[in-house]
Amino acid sequence: MDTTDVVIAGAGPTGLMLACELRTLGLEVAVLDALPGRTGESRAGGIHARTMEVLDQRGLLDGMLAQGDPRQVGHFAGIPVDFSDYATRYPFTLVIPQSLIERELESRAAELGVTVQWDAPVARYRQDAYGVEVEIGGSNGIRRMRAAYLVGCDGGRSAVRKLAGIDFAGTEATMTGMLADVELADPPAEQFFGHRRGMGDFSAVQLQPGWYRLVVQRHDLVLERGATVTFDEFRANFTEIAGTDLGMHSPRWVSHYGDAARHADRYRAGRVFLAGDAAHIHYPAGGQGLNLGVQDAVNLGWKLAAALRDGADDDLLDTYESERRPVAARVLHNTRAQTALSRPGPHTDALRDIMSDLITLDDIRHRIGLMITALDIDYDTASDHPLAGRRVPDVDLVTADGPSRVHELLRPARPILLRLDNTSPIPDESNGHFDAVLASSHATHWPVPGVGDIPRPAALLIRPDGYTAWATDDPTATPPDTFRNSLTPTATH
Ligand SMILES: Cc1cc2nc3c(=O)[nH]c(=O)nc-3n(C[C@H](O)[C@H](O)[C@H](O)COP(=O)(O)OP(=O)(O)OC[C@H]3O[C@@H](n4cnc5c(N)ncnc54)[C@H](O)[C@@H]3O)c2cc1C
Repeated sequence: MDTTDVVIAGAGPTGLMLACELRTLGLEVAVLDALPGRTGESRAGGIHARTMEVLDQRGLLDGMLAQGDPRQVGHFAGIPVDFSDYATRYPFTLVIPQSLIERELESRAAELGVTVQWDAPVARYRQDAYGVEVEIGGSNGIRRMRAAYLVGCDGGRSAVRKLAGIDFAGTEATMTGMLADVELADPPAEQFFGHRRGMGDFSAVQLQPGWYRLVVQRHDLVLERGATVTFDEFRANFTEIAGTDLGMHSPRWVSHYGDAARHADRYRAGRVFLAGDAAHIHYPAGGQGLNLGVQDAVNLGWKLAAALRDGADDDLLDTYESERRPVAARVLHNTRAQTALSRPGPHTDALRDIMSDLITLDDIRHRIGLMITALDIDYDTASDHPLAGRRVPDVDLVTADGPSRVHELLRPARPILLRLDNTSPIPDESNGHFDAVLASSHATHWPVPGVGDIPRPAALLIRPDGYTAWATDDPTATPPDTFRNSLTPTATH
């Protein structure tokens, strides 16, 4: 029987990101997918600021920036939200098809020695105190693989979740969205988004040169999950709501979605974890799902590595659910609100008018936009410094090796103790728990989204996923042992 450290079920963005994280940390992984090969389909059409930061932390962003189209205005239920003054290097949404994101992640995974095993659905598993034995189906018959952990990144209908007996409760679909990626004989003079008319709304957004994503949403129709929509049906629905078909032709892909919102009641069953759509599904408003999955993966990856390589306390693995489940719950909540704000009729029109007015106020625009972009995530930590639990700002630094910036230091996915007080030499205080870096930052104040500008700290302990575990304004302070213990060394570099 083949053995590996971690079996990942699903080669979507979540599974691929997790594979890259685990390989960067030196673990062996097997990525299995039920499909015969990559489809090239793109449900998601963009990524937000925090996901771009997370990708940048691993040197994965440049290729995507080169292929994407930055747009400074996002939206909440189709109401524009200006992101341009958010305190991040990426104050925009990057419009980029999911297929290109997957291609970038898959090629990084390949560089790190992982090739996706297609036609390899996880069919069953059983676990004991030491590991998980996974039964893999596919056209070549049944085979088995043993691993220390199994992670279900196998999408909304997750077999891993069902096999683990994890409940997936939530709310049923109340509407239907249909989408088609097409060429247009009569493209609109300007792209448009969420034009409301009759029982629905419609959009036309250019995804790539010459290629448009048309969407029509209807609140008088709920399609079955397994239903198919033909191009002719899409055209008829779009024309009925929009009053034109824009000369659509040559469809690449036609699909549909709903606003069902479901959440796994646990993210962990012993040695089995869920991440991405396997753990949460929701209305795609605001384009948050892929972002959530990629960030789930980055939260889980270093914790699995710490548990496997360094015998980190099992409690560290439990923090995956306690940190990430509330983040997804908030997305389900805001997407339900967006469905309500999208319903047709004069009452919703009035509510939208009021919301559109409120969203011009900076405080409200920031509150909503920081939630959509996930820049304001605030994990629980025992440190009471304003940076603690927040994603570390990507400020410019000067280190002994020359100019750098905070997120660049995170490329090897190692915990870092960053000392910014250069009046005394850095003591050897890490004992292998983290890499100690002495640097200077010219910025006297650091901007923290959702908090404001804070004085530059004297030192901070940064987790591999880019969140601050501990920070201090006292140049003589060192991280308490509790923080060292939860950042056990990975020692693979
Ligand atoms: C219309 C639409 C627009 C969207 N737009 C956005 C957007 O702009 N931004 C955004 O962030 N999100 C968006 N999303 C959501 C986004 O597409 C998903 O959240 C994302 O694909 C989830 O990634 P994942 O890897 O978790 O799951 P998936 O992408 O669903 O991948 C799961 C993989 O698991 C495989 N699998 C299934 N069963 C098994 C099994 N038994 N064993 C092994 N493998 C298995 C599947 O073949 C698949 O490859 C949108 C969704 C829709 C429907």
